[in-house]
Formats: sequence, C-alpha cells, structure tokens
Amino acid sequence: MDPVDAWGGKKISATSIYFEIFPYKVNQETGDWDYKKFREVADKIGAYLLCDMAHISGLVAAQINLCILGFRKLKTADPFEYCDIVTTTTHKSLRGPRAGMIFYRKGPKPPKKGKPEDAVYDFEDKINFAIFPSLQGGPHNHQIGSFAIALKQAMSTGFEAYAKQVKANVVAIGKYLIDKGYKLVTGGTENHLVLWDLRPLGNKVEKLCDLCNIIVNKNAVFGDSSALAPGGVCIGKYCN
Ligand SMILES: *Cc1c(COP(=O)(O)O)cnc(C)c1O
Repeated sequence: MDPVDAWGGKKISATSIYFEIFPYKVNQETGDWDYKKFREVADKIGAYLLCDMAHISGLVAAQINLCILGFRKLKTADPFEYCDIVTTTTHKSLRGPRAGMIFYRKGPKPPKKGKPEDAVYDFEDKINFAIFPSLQGGPHNHQIGSFAIALKQAMSTGFEAYAKQVKANVVAIGKYLIDKGYKLVTGGTENHLVLWDLRPLGNKVEKLCDLCNIIVNKNAVFGDSSALAPGGVCIGKYCN
C-alpha cells in the first residue's frame, strides 16, 4: 500500500507523482480497516471512496460467499458495502492470473438532502474511457480465460476452505514468531500475511532468507522514517 511513499517526502512510485498521498492509522486495539468511517469522512467532504483491496480480495470473496450462504454477517468487513469504486489485482489471495478488476457503482444514487432525486452514478463511461483507449493495450486472451476460471473457483465452497487455510497457515507462522519473542505489527494476524517488525534486530532477514531460498519481502512498518529503508519483512501469501 502506497502511503509509505509520502514518508520522508520522497516520491518513489508513479502513484505518488500523480496523487498526493497521506498515510492513515487504524484502530490501535483491533487493527481493522473501518470502511464505514472512511465512508463518513468521504461523505462529509464530498469525496469518492475507492478501496484497492488487491491483497485481501480472496478473503473478501470468501467472506461474501459465507454471507451469501448465511453463515456470517460481515457487512462492515465488506468494502462493496461502503465504497463507490473497488479495485483489485487478481493474482494475490484471489488466486488468479496477473490481472486487475475495477468495480464501480451504477444506477440511481441513494437519496441525499440537497441533491436531485434522479441523480445517477456516472462512473461507467469515465472508467471505461480511462482504461481504453487511455491506458490499456491489446487484450491478453489467455489471461482472460484463466481469470474466468479463477473467478468461478472463487465462487465455490472449496475456495472458502482454501481461504481459511491460507489464514490458518499465516496465523500459525505468526504465533510461532511471537512464541520465539519476535515482534509482529498488530501483534499477530487475521489475514493472509504477517508483518514482522525487525527494527529491534536490523533488517538483514530478507537477505538471509533469500540465501536459504525462502522468499519474503522487505516492507515498511509504521514509524519508519523512509520507505527506502523498510523496517520489516512480510511473510505470507503474496506479500509483493
Ligand atoms: C499488489 C498491489 C497492486 C498491484 O499489483 P501488481 O502485482 O504490481 O500488479 C496494487 N494495489 C495494491 C494495494 C496491491 O497490494
């Protein structure tokens, strides 16, 4: 996630050249994203709310499956419930080929004081135009086919089992590290990755793991002074 680009005032990615980025904090106790709160802030200032759920889309899909099946109500953990636009990559926890998806609201807007009654969302043409002809090259048909299969699989009950197992594996890694006395950001994990705060130790772990053929990646942790010298590593499914 890109807010780190703002740290130290250095612009190190294209995103930070086009956008002005501000980091946000999460609830110290729960570490959760509070989509409802983001919605309230956006409404207050008349902004759109976009969630890039690239990392967690597989978990979101699994949760939504569970909701549809009536097992659990997880409305507050569902970005679709609150955001105007939801974007995701497809090759992280969603388990597809490398690609992306953009979801946007369509049709009538919910009634609001001081707004015309027949207001409709106008994202469709703008987003489609921004993709093509503005940005995208030719279609990658092989990828579209494998993507369709990934989405079909994400709708299956087998996928929920898979998503739960991904989480269980990472929770186990997190517990093991904590038992060994190491420090994890948020003190553990409830998703598909752990962020290991190595600042007490110095960040040589990525290099050492690399030498042992274990792939982890350096990752900024809250409080780092620059994204160019990240204080942690990320372990789990698709940390990159
Ligand atoms: C991974 C990721 C992307 C882009 O993924 P690529 O692998 O570079 O295509 C975009 N947004 C978020 C939040 C991500 O985690």
